[in-house]
Amino acid sequence: MGRRFEGKVVVVTGGGAGIGRASARGFAGEGARVVVAGPRGESIEETVGIIEGEGGVASAVVADVTRAEDMARLVRTTVERYGALHIAHNNAGIFGKPTPVGDLDPADWQHVLDVNLTGVLLAMREEVGHMRAHGGGVIVNTASNIGYHGRRPGMAAYAASKAAVSALTKVAALDHIGDGIRINAVSPGATDTTMSLRPGESDADRAARLATAVPAGRVASTQEIVNAVLWLASEESSFVVGHDLVVDGGVTA
Ligand code: NAP
Repeated sequence: MGRRFEGKVVVVTGGGAGIGRASARGFAGEGARVVVAGPRGESIEETVGIIEGEGGVASAVVADVTRAEDMARLVRTTVERYGALHIAHNNAGIFGKPTPVGDLDPADWQHVLDVNLTGVLLAMREEVGHMRAHGGGVIVNTASNIGYHGRRPGMAAYAASKAAVSALTKVAALDHIGDGIRINAVSPGATDTTMSLRPGESDADRAARLATAVPAGRVASTQEIVNAVLWLASEESSFVVGHDLVVDGGVTA
């Protein structure tokens, strides 16, 4: 792989695990200086340690995407540390407890919306605020194939939040392409992280379930999702604006 992000400064939210960790490693592996954000110091510091072990440059900022002040501090700290913010991957998300609509606790609904949807808005507000005053930038949001593209029973809060991330991404892209900020989304299908494991399910159980549920016959690797994120963040996609790129092995084809 080349060094598409040499000289770039990148923020990744939800960078302490799964797709976010793989994204942070991917950007750093191609030359970016990466700020890894998440609500717990331990996991994001672990991501930083992995990146440094691979010869990359990264540092951590403890920040919860549901807190506007944390998102402001995340962008401020990034710029203080590295002098810029060029790219953001707004990836933090939670699955919530699968529940039929009739039994959904409004507090659980609100929490999923707060993290998955409002978290993306709060992050983008700060990122756009900096980028439009400093020559532009690129933002990639993580949506899901559950939401705008497809639905599953029991997933009302998650699906509604992710469909809204798709819509928010497109509106934000229209709002800010004139400021030189290119905004897109990636919508993964079931990916090899703890999020895609059902309660009590082993990796082998998941593989057996997805062998028939996914046309491609398997779970996605985090790298397969990150490949799409990096492409949308790179100059190779310079005319792609407001797109929501589904990477789901054909589930919603
Ligand atoms: P994951 O392994 O559970 O990682 C999610 C990350 O988000 C964790 O590092 C978590 O931090 C962080 N996070 C949770 N709440 C946060 C908050 N309030 N503020 C900041 N960070 C927060 O899940 P993943 O599979 O990598 O998912 C990443 C994204 O992909 C999510 O948006 C998810 O909805 C989406 N996605 C995943 C799949 C899949 O099958 N895995 C499919 C479609 C879409 P802690 O660990 O410290 O709590």
